[in-house]
Amino acid sequence: AGMSSEYLEVRGLTVDFDGFKAVQGVDLTLLQGDLRFLIGPNGAGKTTLVDAITGLVPATGSVEKSGVELIGKPAHNIARLGVGRTFQTASVFEELTVLQNLDIAAGAKRSPWSRLRSRTTIEPRIEEALETTGLGALRETPAGILAHGQKQWLEIGMLLVQDATVLLLDEPVAGMSHDERQQTGELLQRIGGERTVVVVEHDMDFMRQFATSVTVLHGGQVLSEGSVAEVQADPRVQAVYLGT
Ligand code: ADP
Repeated sequence: AGMSSEYLEVRGLTVDFDGFKAVQGVDLTLLQGDLRFLIGPNGAGKTTLVDAITGLVPATGSVEKSGVELIGKPAHNIARLGVGRTFQTASVFEELTVLQNLDIAAGAKRSPWSRLRSRTTIEPRIEEALETTGLGALRETPAGILAHGQKQWLEIGMLLVQDATVLLLDEPVAGMSHDERQQTGELLQRIGGERTVVVVEHDMDFMRQFATSVTVLHGGQVLSEGSVAEVQADPRVQAVYLGT
């Protein structure tokens, strides 16, 4: 395991709901710079896999981030170790401004010492998140009146100020316009770089355009994995999607 590169190594991950294995022996290696799409039919176990990695459901097996075992740690510890996620429904504080939302997210990482200082300037990482997400001009706008796409970008910004290096995004472009989708894809490419981004997605056009790699889940197991072209050419994937 590399000591400096941030990545996730999932081995034999299994989630058992009273005897029903929603995720069964999943292996997954996520490299720095990966923009990995996680696809599969409804009920394939995508959300459960993300829940297990982020500590929301108990699991067995192993999830290592830069050599640190995450299985068994509570969700807030996993978040502090730099593994962050979004949900299908954006969870932002609607009555607070964009800036206040980012400030609260950053506060989770702030030391008591810096919390005591009066904060008249905006922290560099908050400025950076505003810039990266393109929300700079909306910093004083209440999150509740943001467009659907902008709320998703704010959530991603909240993960960035928490120094998340592994970002798991649940259907980030669901309900978005064509333009918003494009902007989201470009945002994911911008934040990729030194991080790892996992996108649970049903939008195949979006996947073809932006995925650097794809994992197909089916029945809680990895059915296929590789580049977009490799996965699309896989007869097992075609059978699942086309019923042939
Ligand atoms: P996907 O996200 O790929 O649509 P899910 O991870 O939501 O799939 O679900 C995988 C399977 O696990 C489904 O059959 C679902 O009904 C089942 N499942 C999900 N959560 C629970 C739970 N809390 N208890 C029992 N079964 C569950």
